[in-house]
Order: sequence, then C-alpha cells, then structure tokens
Amino acid sequence: MRLPERIVLATNNPKKLAELRRMLDAGGVGVEVLGLADLARYPEPEETERTFEGNAFLKATAAARETGLVAVADDSGLEVDELNGMPGVRSARWAGPACDDEDNNALLLAQLDGVPAERRTARFVCALAMVTPDGERLVWHGRMPGRIGDAPAGENGFGYDPLFIPAGMEVTSAELTPAEKDSISHRGIAVSAFVSYLAELES
Ligand code: IMP
Repeated sequence: MRLPERIVLATNNPKKLAELRRMLDAGGVGVEVLGLADLARYPEPEETERTFEGNAFLKATAAARETGLVAVADDSGLEVDELNGMPGVRSARWAGPACDDEDNNALLLAQLDGVPAERRTARFVCALAMVTPDGERLVWHGRMPGRIGDAPAGENGFGYDPLFIPAGMEVTSAELTPAEKDSISHRGIAVSAFVSYLAELES
C-alpha cells in the first residue's frame, strides 16, 4: 500500500481521534485523520464478534466500504484471570446494557471480593485493525498487564482505570498522567505500531 493522504478512524470518540493525530504528528507522519463525525453517517455494525480483533475488523470493514477511505478501528477491554478472561469484549457493558463505568467497577470489585492479590492478575488488551477499500487487512495488538486493586483510586482515565494497577507500579492507571498512561497502555502500544507502519510507507 502507498501512504494514503487521508484515513478514517472508525470512532465517535474525540479522545481516540486526538490521540491518533497526536501520535502521527509526533512520528512525523503526514496523514489526515477523519473521524466518523466528519463523514456522512452510516449504520455502524453491532460488535457481535467474540474477539477484540473480530470486532475491530467489523468496524474497519464497514468504514472502508462506506467511505472509500483506508479505515482503522480499535476494540479494547479488560481480561481478568480469576474471571476466565472476562469481561473481555463485554467490558463496556459488564454490569448490564445501560450501565456506566461506576457500575462496572462495583460489579468487578464484588466479583473479586476476598480474592487475594496474587490471583487478581489482569490485562488491558487492544486490537487495532486496518482495512483498505481494495480489501487489504492488517492488525496490530497491544497489552498492558497488571492487577485489580481493592478499591478505586485516581481521577484520570476512564472505564476500569481506577481499579487497574499496571505491573511494576503501586498506583492505578487513573493516577497516571495521560502521557504516562499512553506510553505503556495497550492502545498506545497498538497505535504506535500502526504509526510505525505508516512511517515506513512514507520513507
Ligand atoms: P472501547 O474499545 O473503547 O469500546 O472500550 C471498551 C471498554 O473497555 C471500555 O468501555 C472500558 O470499560 C474498557 N477499557 C478499554 N480500554 C480501557 C482503558 O484504557 N482504561 C479503562 N478501561 C478501558
């Protein structure tokens, strides 16, 4: 593939869009990134796959088909060993269809009630998929290992960050600055691999 002039990131989340633009700038890659809000609306696919990679490809495939642009999409979540890898692809709605982050965190804490620290291991994972209009498909993965704490701490981040203590740290990912988290996070790792791929195309 030649370096495209513009790509679409299949998301409505302005933070994800800003993150990818920031990382492309930092990597010196001159590609314009559009979000779904910048393009004509289309029916977005339901995330029906059982893997992060499968759901990321569903979103990127629809975006490439609907926009005619090179499309990327990410899917991410939390895998907790004591819960056999759940909440996994169900991370966003772990406590029910209309739940918020606080409900999800309360349920996770209740499910791990009495579980000792050494068995509270977990990881955030991210799959970032790219699909081109002529059907080329690539995917990059990122992981951030850690464990689930006993009580929420920290105000930064979102989702399960107040409960997640990255490996080798004593604070939660909600206590890290955005830049500190980006440098070790599952999404930061996957996005930076994608940026390196584009940088190679450019050179
Ligand atoms: P999505 O891939 O943005 O849809 O994220 C799915 C869900 O996984 C989110 O709603 C969060 O519950 C959880 N999640 C994914 N990444 C993170 C993170 O970096 N911190 C905290 N929670 C996350």
